[in-house]
Amino acid sequence: MAVTHTLETDVLRRQDPEMAEILLGELARQSTTLQLIAAENFTSPAVLAALGSPLANKYAEGYPGARYHGGCELVDVAERIAVERAKALFRAEHANVQSHSGSSAMLAAYAALLRPGDTVLALGLTHGGHLTHGSPANFSGRWFDFVGYGVEAESGLMDHVQVRTLARTHRPKAIVCGSISYPRHVDYAFFREVADEVGAYLIADAAHPIGLVAGGAAPSPVPFADVVCATTHKVLRGPRGGMILCGGELAERVDRAVFPFTQGGAQMNSIAAKAVAFGEAATTDFGVYAHQVVANARMLAAALAAEGLHVTTGGTDTHLLTVDPAPLGVEGHTARGLLAAAGMVLDTCALPHGDVRGLRLGTAAVTTQGMRETEMARIAALFGAVLREETEPKRAREEVRELTGGFPPYPGR
Ligand SMILES: *Cc1c(COP(=O)(O)O)cnc(C)c1O
Repeated sequence: MAVTHTLETDVLRRQDPEMAEILLGELARQSTTLQLIAAENFTSPAVLAALGSPLANKYAEGYPGARYHGGCELVDVAERIAVERAKALFRAEHANVQSHSGSSAMLAAYAALLRPGDTVLALGLTHGGHLTHGSPANFSGRWFDFVGYGVEAESGLMDHVQVRTLARTHRPKAIVCGSISYPRHVDYAFFREVADEVGAYLIADAAHPIGLVAGGAAPSPVPFADVVCATTHKVLRGPRGGMILCGGELAERVDRAVFPFTQGGAQMNSIAAKAVAFGEAATTDFGVYAHQVVANARMLAAALAAEGLHVTTGGTDTHLLTVDPAPLGVEGHTARGLLAAAGMVLDTCALPHGDVRGLRLGTAAVTTQGMRETEMARIAALFGAVLREETEPKRAREEVRELTGGFPPYPGR
């Protein structure tokens, strides 16, 4: 099914050509530039179909079998299927699939386990922590007392000695492990041990790697963490949204923390789309995909290192990598601008050393398009040429257009 079928033939174009133009333009942008933002991916047409379905109309406050609204017979089935698929996929005793986003999932996890003013130990924001890990601009930093651990300046690896020392000194009520930019596997057993030693809850924020976990390409936090928060739209390739996994004993507290404590009506179209994505993620094809995502990221890391960029931790275990373009004589923001002009879309990020910005890239989206090691080498070569300003921006843009032309994210449009 062509993803733009509805758009092209039907009402939106006739009724609101202004908005239809933007939607089609965005599809063209996504198809003709390289999506290297580590948090992005291309959902399947089936996921998009569920998102754009009449389930979007349904009000469903509460949980299956206990709703505040009538007419929930079918959406109840949809949510039960989503929950069962998530539990099976991640071998979790309980799954809540209502969180509107990764941040809402974190809010609910804190609400379930903590009281305002409690101390929480998490990766510092300048070391790859997320906004919900204690940013003063976020509810987390305002309502809780966050202590930040870091990564080692030299190696870029999580500083386990510091984690243990800070835990012993501050006796946090919860420890958060997870990051927006850490390229290596998190040692969940280590964090469990420290949490047990100081009597803290362990919250794994697996927003990034949960898709790799689903595909068997990364270790699962589920056996170790009290609560696992995740997104469904990153490597997992589902709709934009969140999810919480936990053991049976915390199930009720987590559910109440989502609804009614921090959210209202569940977005049933999203929940149906999450179920579709979980179904896809349970296939052997998805396992192959997840492993290829990692192989591509490793290839990209090695090829960028060969181009002279400094790769944090010397490589990656996951879909994401962070690099410092300084050896090529350009800092992060300038580099992002140069690459964007060539049609290579990515983010800047904090680096373990100093205040300079680096670049964060991921391979989830390009791998969904079917790109493999050969294309990663080509991307890295282009990267180097653009940053050294050896290639005219226009020429580089043409090369990206040519490369992406061979890998349409939505073939047959
Ligand atoms: C992406 C991410 C989130 C938040 O997800 P949103 O859906 O954008 O709210 C939270 N934590 C980590 C570590 C993330 O990478």
